[in-house]
Amino acid sequence: MPSIRDMLSANKKWADEINDRDPGFFARVSAKQTPEVLWIGCSDSRVGPDQLVSMPIGSIFVHRNIGNLFATNDLNCLAVLEFAIDELKVPNVVVTGHYGCGGVYAALKHSGIQPVDLWLDQIRFIYHRHAAELEELNEEQRWNRLAELNVEAQVHNICRNTIVREAWKRGQEVNVIGLIYDIHDGRLLQMGLEFSSLEAWEACYGVKRL
Ligand SMILES: [Zn+2]
Repeated sequence: MPSIRDMLSANKKWADEINDRDPGFFARVSAKQTPEVLWIGCSDSRVGPDQLVSMPIGSIFVHRNIGNLFATNDLNCLAVLEFAIDELKVPNVVVTGHYGCGGVYAALKHSGIQPVDLWLDQIRFIYHRHAAELEELNEEQRWNRLAELNVEAQVHNICRNTIVREAWKRGQEVNVIGLIYDIHDGRLLQMGLEFSSLEAWEACYGVKRL
């Protein structure tokens, strides 16, 4: 278990190595950020985006919470999306779930009133919406399939949000993508979920415009 002293020492080594390799690096990144990805992922310590995709500092704007939810009634989620789309003009919004997710498992097993259970309630709704399919599976398959369905639901939540819809209407590039990470082999998998326009999303979900 690293101590704070170990962490500070590792940080100094890291900063010194970057300075030696590229003396102007920190001056450049401190001037402004221009991330290409908004990453919405799980807080799980095994699924940190910087390690998974090996992208440089300044490339990924990150929002993480238990179960990689985009909760439409959560001010934190909404503020992150608004800042990423309206201020930073981030072109890619990536929702990344993962197999073996403790949040998804807790949603399958618990139904209390503790903060974690309340936060995960949305996943329980997803379970009930797909109960016929999920109850045909064994426990591990059900756990993993619910993680996939959860990513799909969060992609949907983002696409139907006014922040993304207004960006699409004014012609701003926004690609909303769903991925799932397999903690058993370190691979990030595409789920066939990618929307780059209001029309594409409406056609997929059968949404009728009012
Ligand atoms: Zn998780």
